[in-house]
Amino acid sequence: MISYLPLKQITASFEPQITDAVRRVVERGWFLLGEECATFESEYATYIGSRHCVACGNGYDALWLILRAYRQMGVLKDGDEVLVPANTFIASVLAITNNNLVPVFVEPDAATYLVGERELRAAVTPRCKAYMMVHLYGQCAYSDAIGDFCRERGIKIIEDNAQAHGCLYAGERRTGSLGDAAGHSFYPGKNLGSLGDAGAVTTDDDALAEAISSLHNYGSSQKYVHSHVGVNSRMDEIQSAVLRVKLRRLDEDNACRRAIAGRYIAEINNPSVRLPRVDDINAHVFHIFPLMCGERDRLQQHLSSSGIQAQIHYPLPPHKQQCYSQWNSLLFPVAERLSAEELSLPLHPLLTDEEVTEIINAVNCF
Ligand SMILES: *Cc1c(COP(=O)(O)O)cnc(C)c1O
Repeated sequence: MISYLPLKQITASFEPQITDAVRRVVERGWFLLGEECATFESEYATYIGSRHCVACGNGYDALWLILRAYRQMGVLKDGDEVLVPANTFIASVLAITNNNLVPVFVEPDAATYLVGERELRAAVTPRCKAYMMVHLYGQCAYSDAIGDFCRERGIKIIEDNAQAHGCLYAGERRTGSLGDAAGHSFYPGKNLGSLGDAGAVTTDDDALAEAISSLHNYGSSQKYVHSHVGVNSRMDEIQSAVLRVKLRRLDEDNACRRAIAGRYIAEINNPSVRLPRVDDINAHVFHIFPLMCGERDRLQQHLSSSGIQAQIHYPLPPHKQQCYSQWNSLLFPVAERLSAEELSLPLHPLLTDEEVTEIINAVNCF
């Protein structure tokens, strides 16, 4: 059986460093807002290439905190519109609607699954004040053309980097340092995953970083002095210590993912399956390897009976969800078709060459 993501084995592959890190925190007896978190923030900021990193509770909170801070700073106000891909994970949209902001869904490109400059221009309205740029599946969604377009119109770029830790744009700058601010998730299954919930904001904006470091800790920058209505969203010392261990292997892990994805792209040749169009394989960290297939459910069953676990990202786009009934009748045919046809193959650094061959053969004989 080839499991989609064997988290137990992946975690074990970081031993004994992970257990050492956890024990170090337990023995120190300091569990929140301590030296592990501060060190992780500075190591991660350096890794991403941002001036600031503020660690927080999870990836959703990171995105929510960015928008919340922009509202506090007067950059955004109630009812402002925020562009967001129609085919993203719902957290990107919840961060918008839970801030009294209005999502403007943007159709993705049918071949790359990303929102490009053309799609953005077709969707933008005069009320759009921000763009939630999602590096979906681990592929960089930034381009200089998009950066210029947003800057000219005063649109803030907020990167949802939950799936793209370590991804490079143009061979040098990392996603998470390309826009005005970025939210990162360290959910266990992500390319950089903790042993629970964790997340972070990166930004070069001093005022934004200061607002978020207060907001995420009860709106307080000095103990028992509360200047703003904040929340509790902190990354604990154990997760910080674990992430410091895993960050050191991230580039190597991403290179493994890229090599496996390269084999999928080169060797899957079943005409009933569409492969993703990847313009620059080095601008992709393959959090997910998405196939498209008109008979997706049958393909998933076929793989399952061959002992291969494949998953769907995501079965229903946000505008079709019950919680967003006001948008259920909107039509985004590309996003809807992608969610009807998408199937994700196993893709993680511990897959062996033989397992990759087995997966390729199983897809090809469908
Ligand atoms: C995982 C994910 C999130 C949310 O991260 P959590 O840590 O689970 O809150 C946000 N956006 C995208 C695109 C994601 O994949």
